[in-house]
Amino acid sequence: MIVAIDGPAGAGKSTLSRRLAADLGFLYVDTGAMYRAIGLFMTRRGIDPADAACVVPALPEVSLSLRHVAGEQRVFLGEEDVSEAIRLPEISLAASAVSAIPAVRDFLLQLQRDFGRQHSVLMDGRDIGTVVFPDAQLKIFLTASAEDRARRRFEELRAKGLPVSYEEQLAQVRQRDAQDENRAVAPLRPAADAVVVDTSGFSFEQSYQTLRNIIEERMQ
Ligand code: C5P
Repeated sequence: MIVAIDGPAGAGKSTLSRRLAADLGFLYVDTGAMYRAIGLFMTRRGIDPADAACVVPALPEVSLSLRHVAGEQRVFLGEEDVSEAIRLPEISLAASAVSAIPAVRDFLLQLQRDFGRQHSVLMDGRDIGTVVFPDAQLKIFLTASAEDRARRRFEELRAKGLPVSYEEQLAQVRQRDAQDENRAVAPLRPAADAVVVDTSGFSFEQSYQTLRNIIEERMQ
C-alpha cells in the first residue's frame, strides 16, 4: 500500500508521517530530504542552486542514498550521513530552488518509485500524489495557515538553539510557498482525489489522530 502525504512547508508532514509510519508499519520516505541533499551538495560546491546550467551538469556526481536504520530514515551523500546538515534554514531555500529544475526532479523520480515497488510506504513531499504515485491508494494533502506553519518552524528551530526570528520564518514560509506553487514542473497542489486536511489551530495529537483515522479507514 502507498500512502502519499503532500502539502506546503511546515505543515507538520515529516513529524506526523514519521510517527504514523512507525505506528502503522509502513516504511517512511521523506522526499524533501532528497531535494535538501541535492541543495546541500550544490551549496557546498559553490553552485547557485537556482542556476540550472550549473546544477544539471553536476547531478551525475551526486551519490545520494536513503538508508533506514532501526526504522529511521538517514540521508547519505556518498558515505557521509547528512541527515542533520540538510535541516539548516539556508538549505531549505536551496532545496526549494533545485526542486524547480526538471532534471533534478527526473533524477529523483526513479529513486522514489523504487521504494514504492519494494515496500508498503508512507511517502511525504509535494508531488507524491500528483506525479510520483498517481495511483496511490490514499492521498492526503496536509496544510495549515502560513502563520501557524511559521510559528511551528520557529519553535522547532529555536528549541535547537538556532538564532531565528518568527518574522524571518514567516517570510521564508511565504517565499517557499510561492516558489513551490508557481514552478512550471510538478507545482504544489492537491491531487484531484486527495483528502485535504487543514491543521490550523490543531495540536500535534489532534493532527495525528485525524490522519491516523483516515489511513486506518482506508486500510480496511
Ligand atoms: O519538505 P521539505 O521542506 O524538506 O522540502 C524541501 C523542499 O524540497 C521544498 O521546499 C520543495 O521545494 C522541495 N520538494 C519538492 N518535492 C517533493 C519534496 C520536496 O519539490 N516531493
